[in-house]
Amino acid sequence: MSLSSEEITRYSRNILLNGVGKKGQEKLKSSVVSIVGLGGLGSPSALYLSAAGVGEIRIIDSDVVDLTNLQRQILYSTNSQNSSKARSAKLKLSELNDKIKITEVNTRITKSNIHEVLQGSHLVLEGSDNFETKFLVNDYCVLNSIPLLIAGILRFEGQVMGILPKRTACYRCTFLEMPEADSIPNCAEAGVLGSVAGIVGSIQATEALKYIIFGESELFGKILNCDFLSMELRKIERKRNKKCTVCGDTPKYIDLEHHEELDFNCKI
Ligand SMILES: [Zn+2]
Repeated sequence: MSLSSEEITRYSRNILLNGVGKKGQEKLKSSVVSIVGLGGLGSPSALYLSAAGVGEIRIIDSDVVDLTNLQRQILYSTNSQNSSKARSAKLKLSELNDKIKITEVNTRITKSNIHEVLQGSHLVLEGSDNFETKFLVNDYCVLNSIPLLIAGILRFEGQVMGILPKRTACYRCTFLEMPEADSIPNCAEAGVLGSVAGIVGSIQATEALKYIIFGESELFGKILNCDFLSMELRKIERKRNKKCTVCGDTPKYIDLEHHEELDFNCKI
């Protein structure tokens, strides 16, 4: 997909980078990236991917903006309250870059609609606030060979994991079972510093851009643990679990249709 002269100017700071050039920018233009969850993580990642010229971005969230979101969800402004996040985000992102396609998906991801929503994505960024969605998106992406970057934040900490399906450890390899509801506090209970969401979402966006341009992410098969109080960032390698029910040697689930554990609606 070739670039217009306006696009060459708009993306000149990308194009100047060693190893990127027009070819790298054209790869961005022809890529489709889905972002699950348009909160503290999805806000910065969607903004940076739009600004960088990713050709199609699907933005997925069923929620509406409330006052407590505005401390960290930088896609929205005071006037966005009570509006659909997907709709408000689309307006904001289209304003930032009218040369790309933004597809808004104002629905909860479930086992039955996830294929319709995510099929054809070259990469998925998961930044929802609940484990049901993280496990569902992991399982769908692994079963359909779509690379995935999953992130989470809490208090002053963040975590990003990169998954290259069937080659590196998946989310389920690492966390095995979904935690019991209410066993781990969420941001609404324990708080989160807004800028922490900004950094961690930007890490997801950086790895996404590197993956599209260079075909690699430093975080595939690894978890990056970030403690922003001590400013310690640690990469931990994860090995594939041969007994993983999704990506192991004898997987229990080969498609979502037979996926008993995911018979629920996911909240994003
Ligand atoms: Zn696995």
